[in-house]
Amino acid sequence: MSYIKNSILKLEPYSVPGRPAAVKLNQNESPFDWPPAIKEKIFKKLDRTNWNRYPREENTELLTRLADYAGHSSEGILLGNGSNELIQTIICSFASKGDRILTVRPGFSIYKRVATILDIEIIEINLKPDFSFDLQKIIEQAQAAGLIFLTSPNNPTGSMMGLEDIDYLLQKVDLPVILDEAYVEFSGITGQPLLKNYENLIILRTFSKAFGLAGARLGYLLGAPSVVNQLKKARLPFSVGLFQQTAAEILLAENELVTDLVEKIKAERKRIYEELLSFKVFKALPSSANFFLLESSTLNAREVFNRLLERDVLVRWFDLPEFQNKVRVTVGSPAENDFLINKLRDIEKEVTGCR
Ligand code: PMP
Repeated sequence: MSYIKNSILKLEPYSVPGRPAAVKLNQNESPFDWPPAIKEKIFKKLDRTNWNRYPREENTELLTRLADYAGHSSEGILLGNGSNELIQTIICSFASKGDRILTVRPGFSIYKRVATILDIEIIEINLKPDFSFDLQKIIEQAQAAGLIFLTSPNNPTGSMMGLEDIDYLLQKVDLPVILDEAYVEFSGITGQPLLKNYENLIILRTFSKAFGLAGARLGYLLGAPSVVNQLKKARLPFSVGLFQQTAAEILLAENELVTDLVEKIKAERKRIYEELLSFKVFKALPSSANFFLLESSTLNAREVFNRLLERDVLVRWFDLPEFQNKVRVTVGSPAENDFLINKLRDIEKEVTGCR
């Protein structure tokens, strides 16, 4: 249809490569679903809620619990239908057609996607060969940008931007800086202490990873209350439905369980890394998140992806020159990780011809 904007016509549909598999390690989700007893509490509360009414825009109970959990005033928190919605809200609030957003490459695809839809340009700064952030280049190129999106730990590399570097960047640039901390629970390093010094810093978080709530869709941002009040106007009303509000209210009361599961995933990340040290064909690159890059010395990324999928393991393949021999693998449950390691061992035997 010729009325559709060019930016949409040219855009590829959002899709994740692959098909369903027994072991799903492709979207950085938590491998742990919530126990039935906790789900039951959520159902009971939902049962007492009117579904015919719009959800609350200011759910003080939820905001108070979240403020407590995050250690940030509730006036400086904005909830969204996943952090993806907040990315859109932020871009709509700070940028217009013709503006430029600076981010890194390889990085999280949604910033570019939303920008493209809105005819906003993207400046991508390459990460260094070891996937660390090139702070000097970011600062140099920031002059040409109106907004900066950084992800730490970065998706899909798992590399981090240190607190001192974020502080230095904020001293040097006078732009909104969005620090996406979707994986912060797994790194334990946050830029949050810098919020008190910089009104132009916004921190983005999600319930989709450590909290194991990807299906419910809930994200939030932390910022200065004066900024949050403006961003609120750009977000669609009632986008955070009663199901995710209720689930989060209950789950925030169970957050010690989240801490335990995060520790479990970190221990599994270390175990996989160590197991892979004895492999010849595969290597795990260091990561501060709940996923890591799996590098092969002989197979290309497509082959690794296909050979794992043939064996019922779904990982993430990226059509990127930087990832010619790398796929991204989410840390799964101990049983899923055993399955993965066994399948990698099979592939290694196949490739090296040893039986
Ligand atoms: N930011 C980053 C860096 C992510 O990796 C993801 C999820 N893949 C998101 C944001 C979006 O998360 P949500 O489910 O909250 O929309």
